[in-house]
Amino acid sequence: MIGITSYGGYIPRLRLDRMSIYQAMGWFAPAIVMVAQGERSFCNWDEDALTMAVAASKDCLVGQDKSAIDAFFLCSTTLPFSDRLNAGVVKTALNLKDELHAADLTSTLRGGTTGLVQALSAVKSGDMQNVLVTAADKRLAKAGYFYEMWFGDGAASLLVGNSDVIAEFLGSYTVTHDFVDHYRGSTNQYDYMWEERWVRDQGYSKIIPEAVSGLFNKLSMNIGDVDKLVFPCFFKAEHKKIAKKLGAPPEKVMDNLHEVCGETGAAHPLVMLVHALEDAKPGDRILVVGFGQGCDALYFRVTDEILNLPVRQGIKGSLANKKATDNYAKFLKFRDLIQTEMGIRAEAPTQTAMTVLWRKRDMILGLVGGKCTECGTPQFPRMDICVNPECRAVKSQIPYEFADVPASVKSFTGDLLAVSVDPPGIYGMVQFEGGGRFMADFTDCELSECRVGQQVTMSFRRRYTDTERGFSGYFWKAVPVPEAEERGAVEGVDIRFDDQVAIVTGAGAGLGRVYALELAKRGAKVVVNDLGGARDGSGEGSSSPADDVVEEIKTAGGEAVANYDSVSTPEGGQAIVDTAINAFGRVDILINNAGILRDKTLVKMDPENWDAVMDVHLKGAYNVTRPAFVKMRENRYGRIILTSSAAGLYGNFGQTNYSSAKMGLIGLMNTTKLEGDKHNIKINTVAPVAATRLTEDILPPDLLEKLKPEFVAPIVLYLCSQKCDDNGMTFNAGMGYFNRVAIVTGSGTVIGDGRGIPTLEEIHHSWEKINDLEGAEEFPNAAAAFGPMLDAFSPKKKDVPSEETGGLTVAGVFENIPGAFQADKAAGVDVVFQFDISGPKGGSWTITVKDGSCEVTEGSHGSPTTTIKMGDDDFVKLMSGELNAMSAFTGGKLKVEGDLMKSQLVEKLFKF
Ligand code: NAD
Repeated sequence: MIGITSYGGYIPRLRLDRMSIYQAMGWFAPAIVMVAQGERSFCNWDEDALTMAVAASKDCLVGQDKSAIDAFFLCSTTLPFSDRLNAGVVKTALNLKDELHAADLTSTLRGGTTGLVQALSAVKSGDMQNVLVTAADKRLAKAGYFYEMWFGDGAASLLVGNSDVIAEFLGSYTVTHDFVDHYRGSTNQYDYMWEERWVRDQGYSKIIPEAVSGLFNKLSMNIGDVDKLVFPCFFKAEHKKIAKKLGAPPEKVMDNLHEVCGETGAAHPLVMLVHALEDAKPGDRILVVGFGQGCDALYFRVTDEILNLPVRQGIKGSLANKKATDNYAKFLKFRDLIQTEMGIRAEAPTQTAMTVLWRKRDMILGLVGGKCTECGTPQFPRMDICVNPECRAVKSQIPYEFADVPASVKSFTGDLLAVSVDPPGIYGMVQFEGGGRFMADFTDCELSECRVGQQVTMSFRRRYTDTERGFSGYFWKAVPVPEAEERGAVEGVDIRFDDQVAIVTGAGAGLGRVYALELAKRGAKVVVNDLGGARDGSGEGSSSPADDVVEEIKTAGGEAVANYDSVSTPEGGQAIVDTAINAFGRVDILINNAGILRDKTLVKMDPENWDAVMDVHLKGAYNVTRPAFVKMRENRYGRIILTSSAAGLYGNFGQTNYSSAKMGLIGLMNTTKLEGDKHNIKINTVAPVAATRLTEDILPPDLLEKLKPEFVAPIVLYLCSQKCDDNGMTFNAGMGYFNRVAIVTGSGTVIGDGRGIPTLEEIHHSWEKINDLEGAEEFPNAAAAFGPMLDAFSPKKKDVPSEETGGLTVAGVFENIPGAFQADKAAGVDVVFQFDISGPKGGSWTITVKDGSCEVTEGSHGSPTTTIKMGDDDFVKLMSGELNAMSAFTGGKLKVEGDLMKSQLVEKLFKF
């Protein structure tokens, strides 16, 4: 499968209130008031298309293997160098390998999508495995012009490849026309625009539909096959009109981000695509269009893999991390559109010595320092003598990248005398975690916001501009991370549940009520279930607890419906799920929370009290989860929470019924996690501690005060969110303290040889080893837990040299296959084995055995007899005898598709 494997985005922190442009320039151009709504993004004085490209690419490369990137395309119409490979500067800043294809794709606003099409076809052709495509633009417009309102600055980055694909590429269509809606002559600073009406009527509204219809014809599809339509067009009415012309209903049309950012030139189709991917669910089909002297249309389908992508800033996070201003003069100055007196000091020579830039390129552009191989101390810059006074080793340093190392402010100062476009110049000592420090300029901050100890991130910025020679010099600066109260926005992990439907059982009071309120606050539509009975489950029940919570949600502007059924019967469970379907049409989230208590010691625990507690907690969870699971499976998405208790996990005097039910839920989770995984349904358990009706007379009053249910809600909501892809986990939560609980298994011991039955006396003798939990392991399922038992009776492991020491590699195994082939055992055998080995050192190989001969080829076979799938490390372990084939198979590390019986021939036909 080929497609997008990762994404990243960057919008500068500064936003200009569009009304401030009108306030400053309205006397001259009164008509601009028509588009003076919202904010546009703009670069800080030290940012340009190159620096934004580095930021977006870094974001895209979170969790990715940089060394696997074969090519990098930089797309922009505002690159700072007309003749110096701009992509080469970004490549050096990102520390990508030297054997890289790098290209600038420029001169058209369609550059972003064209770069993406090129990258996809390079990967499709098999020439390349991973291609990074980054688009960035910082376009200038004359003061008081409509385009000054419409434009914004920004960047987006996509990694294209053939493994771990998050959005599968299904096809593209391109038309090229020399349609000149605007142009920028090579000696001009500003775009020259033709009449808007003509651009709208003959450009956007004709050429975009032409490309989209071409794609539809080519792929035999129609607009009904599109869930998200992404196309930039800053004419608001035209954007709507084109969507209508294409037959796309408004809910499928992605926002063009005019209100929050403005149009970011060649980057904009990719900025909008990244924004769409951030909210995409597996199965969503996305159509992306890039317009400019023709049009590119690309079609993707989002895969389950999107849920595994690590959290990143992205476009959403960048948009949330903003500093709004109405200082129009500052906007002009930062874009170098007004001249100010910079003082005599600014006249100091700024010529760049190309010799030094070349020699120190990894240090200057890549922020690469050194790390001592003798004592491990990192330092910046790299030098001949180790900075550690205890070590002082000579010529011991290896390159060490600082750009992604967490760092904090050691000291800082604001300097009003230093030359700065944004006085005072702020700089200080930055201390990196694990060692290394240097004096850095600070950016994207006010002096009043800085403090010692504050976290900083490193950002690639312009350091100076040599106007005489037309050269921009770049280096890394420190960006202080705002304080906690602003941090939600900075991290940009705005977890929402818009358009999702949640069921919370027992939501009329206590913990359930808080979960329901918080889910609704974050956009979910909630079914508030509560029977409204007594603490021990007795009584007729009452509708008022559920109704009150629904009322509370509605008053706060949310959506909710009440349900009064009991979870303790299958009919009740079904009715609860039906309420969600009837009111909102789907179920995305289920929190099994309803609970009662009937505490008695074992001897006094009569069957009635035992059953009542079992019925609400354990059977109740089964009763609601089962019908909810059916609905979630239809949507290929679901998040289920079970509520356990410390009483079950660890035991609590007088609660045998409750402990058994609460521990039974862990069993329910352990198996449901396996059954739900392939449908993207995740199930997790929380063991809460909170002050509620259930605990009011159990816990001491001073403790109850500190145990607000609100402290438990964050982890429960997080586990319910798309951001969480953990499955089958259990967590304790209370008072803001969270930790994980797991069932672990000791490494155990072997008694005898597997043939003779051990005696009781031998058990007694080995008791310490049997009982020992040192090196205990967690297993994902029962079959995996069975693995060590099988391994224990396998032949002993050999000392196998590692890849680093010239030992076995995946590719090496396949090279050696002909030598390992046992021709005498192959008489009459006619099979094709396909090996799909995943991971960075993996690949696909085909072994064909026929007429007593064996042929090995790299790549996939159309119809293999048997396909064997493994991870690269496990494969090497298997081949070197470190991993037993049967335990790998039962533990899920080795998967066989096709003819299972024929897979057993591998052992017979090859002797390694
Ligand atoms: P709570 O009594 O405040 O809330 C439980 C709610 O469940 C009540 O509103 C009740 O009417 C409802 N309910 C009871 N039986 C029902 C049924 N058959 N159908 C539908 N609704 C029913 O108690 P809480 O502390 O908020 O408990 C929530 C969950 O957390 C329970 O499962 C409980 O066992 C678990 N728990 C709580 C704590 C704690 O410290 N509070 C500790 C461990 C586990």
